[in-house]
Amino acid sequence: MEMCNDKETLDTIVEEANKHTSQGKVADYIPALSLANPDTLSVAIFQNNNVCTTSGDINEKFTLQSISKVLSLAVALMDLGEEEVFSRVGKEPTGDPFNSIIKLETHSPSKPLNPMINAGALVVTSMIEGRTIDEKLERLLSFIQELTGNPSITVNEDVAKSEFDTAYLNRSLCYFMKQHGVIIDNVETLLELYTKQCAIEVNCEDLAKIGYVIANDGKDVDTNRPIIPLHIARILKTFMVTCGMYNASGEFAIKVGIPAKSGVSGGIMAAVPHGVGIGIYGPSLDDKGNSIAGMKVLEALSERYNLSIF
Ligand code: GLN
Repeated sequence: MEMCNDKETLDTIVEEANKHTSQGKVADYIPALSLANPDTLSVAIFQNNNVCTTSGDINEKFTLQSISKVLSLAVALMDLGEEEVFSRVGKEPTGDPFNSIIKLETHSPSKPLNPMINAGALVVTSMIEGRTIDEKLERLLSFIQELTGNPSITVNEDVAKSEFDTAYLNRSLCYFMKQHGVIIDNVETLLELYTKQCAIEVNCEDLAKIGYVIANDGKDVDTNRPIIPLHIARILKTFMVTCGMYNASGEFAIKVGIPAKSGVSGGIMAAVPHGVGIGIYGPSLDDKGNSIAGMKVLEALSERYNLSIF
C-alpha cells in the first residue's frame, strides 16, 4: 500500500484542512472541553517498521471521549464473549445523534441499538470485568497502554469531573435503561467509570498506534503478538464503518471509506485495514460532533492514496 510517509505532503494536507476550522466550534456541553483551541490540528500516521509521519503539535494531549467506546467494547468482548455482549447491545446504526434517547423508547427498551452511541456504550462499560471502578478502569487503562506502548497514559481528572458533574443526559439514559433492566449497576458508579473512560488522555501518535493495531488484526506494533483477537478486531472495524462517525457514518463511508471513530474532544482514530493507523486532533466540530478539519484530512489522504475499502 502506497502511503503518506513524507512530511511535506502531510503538512500541505493539514494546512489546507485547517482552513475549514472556523466553520465549526469546540464542544462546550462538557465545560472542560470548551477550553480547547479550535484552530489547532495535529496528525500522526503510523505504519510498518515504526514509521510515524506527523504534522502539527503532536505533543498536544486530548481526551478520547467517544473513541474510548471502541476500546471498552474490545475489553467487554474479550471478557464476556460475543454472545453475552450482543445479548445486551445491538449491532445496527441508528441515524440519530450519539446522545439520543428516542430509539430506546421507540425501538427496543431492553437493548440500545449499537455500542457506539452513548446508551450502548454505557451498557458496554457496565460489562467490563472487575470488582471496583478502580479495578475496571485499571484494566481498560493497561489495555490502552499496551496498544500504544505508552505506560504513561492516564485519566485527565479535571475533564472526567467536569463531565460527571454535568452528565444529565447520560444520567437519564442510564436511569431509563435501569428501569428496563438493561443496566443493573448503580447509575452514579457506572457514570463515574464511563466519564473516566472518556477522559483518558492521549496524543495523536498514541491514537495512530491504536488505529494501527486495530487495522492489523489486533497485532502488537513491535512484536506482532496478538493483543486483540482477530475476530474482535474485525468487529471493531465494522462498527467503526457503520457507526464510528455518529449519524454522519454513511456520508463518511462514501467520501472517505476508512474505518474511523471520532470523539467530541476533536479526536479521530482511523484504521486502514492491513495498512496504517491514523490519529488526528482538531477540536473544531461540525453539528454532528465530528472534527471538521480531521474529516478533511482523512478525505484528502483517502483520495490521494486510494485508501477507501470500498
Ligand atoms: N463523553 C462524551 C459523552 O458521553 C462522549 C461523546 C462523544 O464523544 N460523542 O457525551
